Amino acid sequence: MSERMICIGCGVTIQTEDETKIGYAPPSALERDPMICQRCFRLKHYNEVQDVSLTDDDFLNILHGIGQADGLVVKIVDIFDFNGSWLPGLHRFVGKKDVLLVGNKVDLLPKSVKHEKVTRWMKQTARELGLQPRDVFLVSANRGDGMKEVMAAIDEYRNGKDVYVVGCTNVGKSTFINRIIKEATGKGNVITTSYFPGTTLDMIEIPLDDGSALYDTPGIINHHQMAHFVDKKDLKVITPKKEIKPKVYQLNEQQTLFFGGLARLDYVSGGRRPFVCYMSNELFIHRTKREHADELYERHLGELLQPPRKSYCDQLPPLVAHHFTLKEPKTDIVFSGLGWVTCHEPGAQVIAYAPKGVGVMLRKSLI
Ligand code: GDP
Repeated sequence: MSERMICIGCGVTIQTEDETKIGYAPPSALERDPMICQRCFRLKHYNEVQDVSLTDDDFLNILHGIGQADGLVVKIVDIFDFNGSWLPGLHRFVGKKDVLLVGNKVDLLPKSVKHEKVTRWMKQTARELGLQPRDVFLVSANRGDGMKEVMAAIDEYRNGKDVYVVGCTNVGKSTFINRIIKEATGKGNVITTSYFPGTTLDMIEIPLDDGSALYDTPGIINHHQMAHFVDKKDLKVITPKKEIKPKVYQLNEQQTLFFGGLARLDYVSGGRRPFVCYMSNELFIHRTKREHADELYERHLGELLQPPRKSYCDQLPPLVAHHFTLKEPKTDIVFSGLGWVTCHEPGAQVIAYAPKGVGVMLRKSLI
């Protein structure tokens, strides 16, 4: 049997098969001595953390490790997919540790949205989900908005201790950390990383001024996100890149909206009313009569109704119906990773369809 190869940076077992998984190193790197995984290589030479993902079990191990360590936890969620990017188990591990909750990608929300309202909403929702963050922030890691405030808070709350940055894949964790590195070190300054074999399995250590460290944990894959059911090209269409322009549809009972071919909303009863859609500006929304919806889907999936593109239709799981009665005013019908539809008045009966496995839920309106 071949010898197990360990990265001297993070202690992970080196593998050469899958670039997106933890421990990857290109085959040529195996000749290097000492051996180092691509993620550590990039941090060391380019001051850049790289996005890797983990299996659920590995991630539980990491959370367990964090639970036992002393430090500040910074949890990043994607504000566009708050529930889909939530790490449900985290609160059980953090114990009494301080947690800062950071909602990233705030640049996607319409400019008219008041940030205080969103942070209040985040605090309340976090509490309902079992987490009591010390503070809540909204940032755009891409653009840098809000980063100074969150960095100041990290410095204050960590109190000289280590910082653990956690988040599921695609929330922008790498972008966030890379920005911190950049801001903290200044342009052109190379940070020095300290390598201790095997100490922080799977976590990347970024030293802070006072001898403590900021740890980048790999992202966990949340399987019920839409992102895992479409290919890369289609993912580009459904991932908003700039401020979302809400689209308002005045629907009569028995009308249907198709969101490309990836999701569908049937308005069953409740009188004529507006439905406000918050989704990627590039996603095509098609309105039809409910009685025609099944046939339309069957005939035009991959054409009129796309994404998915024609060649990927057979890989999309069948749409599953979720029945809801909207009892509260200002309710969002959320399609994990695709966006949401807000209904302002209670009393509507709807059926929300999404591919089998994709999370669909109601929540108190975010906006
Ligand atoms: P990670 O998997 O959590 O490390 O996420 P990445 O940092 O690789 O980012 C995932 C995707 O989100 C990329 O396409 C980024 O460009 C995008 N992204 C990251 N930060 C922001 C942000 O502040 N706003 C927007 N709109 N997109 C962002």
